Amino acid sequence: MKYAMIIPDGATDEACAALGGRTPLQAAKIPHMDEVARNGLLGRSRNVPDRFIPASDVATLSLFGYDPVRYYTGRAPLEVVAMGLPLGSLDWAVRCNLVNITDNRMTDFTAGHVTSPEAAVFIDAIQKELLAQFTGIEFHPGVSYRNIMIVREAEGGTPHLGETTHTTPPHDIPDQLVAEFLPKGQGGDWLRALMAAGAEVLRDHPYNRVREAEGHRPANAIWLWGQGKAPRVPAFRELHGLRGAIISAVDLVRGTGQLAGWDRIDVPTATGYLDTDYAAKGRAGIDALKTHDLVCVHVEAPDEASHEGRADAKVEALERIDAEIVGPMLEALRKQGDFRLLISPDHSTLVRTKAHDRAPVAWAMCGNGLAASGGTYNEVSAAEVNGPFLEEGWRLMERFLIKN
Ligand SMILES: [Zn+2]
Repeated sequence: MKYAMIIPDGATDEACAALGGRTPLQAAKIPHMDEVARNGLLGRSRNVPDRFIPASDVATLSLFGYDPVRYYTGRAPLEVVAMGLPLGSLDWAVRCNLVNITDNRMTDFTAGHVTSPEAAVFIDAIQKELLAQFTGIEFHPGVSYRNIMIVREAEGGTPHLGETTHTTPPHDIPDQLVAEFLPKGQGGDWLRALMAAGAEVLRDHPYNRVREAEGHRPANAIWLWGQGKAPRVPAFRELHGLRGAIISAVDLVRGTGQLAGWDRIDVPTATGYLDTDYAAKGRAGIDALKTHDLVCVHVEAPDEASHEGRADAKVEALERIDAEIVGPMLEALRKQGDFRLLISPDHSTLVRTKAHDRAPVAWAMCGNGLAASGGTYNEVSAAEVNGPFLEEGWRLMERFLIKN
């Protein structure tokens, strides 16, 4: 028995005027996903409990079968797991986005999708300068704009951060004035001072002059958020007796998989963006099925298209996932024997707001022991067929796996 999960990040959405009143999933030509829905179960789940901000950190824990209320400690710690960095029990991991702030507004939470090599240079400069002014901090380059700060708290010392520390995801405040969203609570002043010092380092950095000359937005500020301590979850293999693998270009998603004890399989040509190598991810997924019981392939592209407000790009990303990942994996699964395949986004991301949304997501699964819903894979059909609605999205994993 083999299980495959495909996560089109942020895929579910609202009706878009640019698509003639259809959602991107309705507008996209996705025959394979439609086949999964038609021949199997079509349902909905709430992956983000009310107390959390809708984002991939909480939603991915749910998708992997872990109750976020019980296990979530923050976004950055999950990324730190993926980066292989040690995190002590007192330490904090904090996301350090490279961003572009223009006229005091969050113009671009990706700093023009700064490349990883550029980001490494920026983060290195920040590390050198800020270490002269602050103690107990380490900066680590990640993928593109997604970098990490670790706060090493001393045993018996006054902690820099705490439960009341409040930060805001920069992708939730597109084009908004940043002043009212700066860190607050315990250590808020300290985080704001770090951000100010970081902007100082970046303002006149020669790499930013090059970026501007090439027509890219400069990475002119850092944004600290997503702080948390080291998470602990029971191993997936112990819970379900299955060996898992995760294929994703995004540290957060890889980290969540690794936290569950899944093997991480890297696809060198995957980018975490619209230009990712879809076909290579599909091939890697098929390969991994030979050595693993459950393989999860995550694609960030639909989420990124929504954050840019581009309905057409979102449709294209969904069509490529369908043709180059879902189709080939479904065919491979059928050939090898017993299987189940699940398609579910982590959360919804709306083209209209360019932000995540807490609306329930639509999912579809097909394979052994599932009756045909007759629906198609989109939000409207999922509501119409009146399939299962999981108020606790983390319980979807129990439904997906066939217990012996
Ligand atoms: Zn997103």
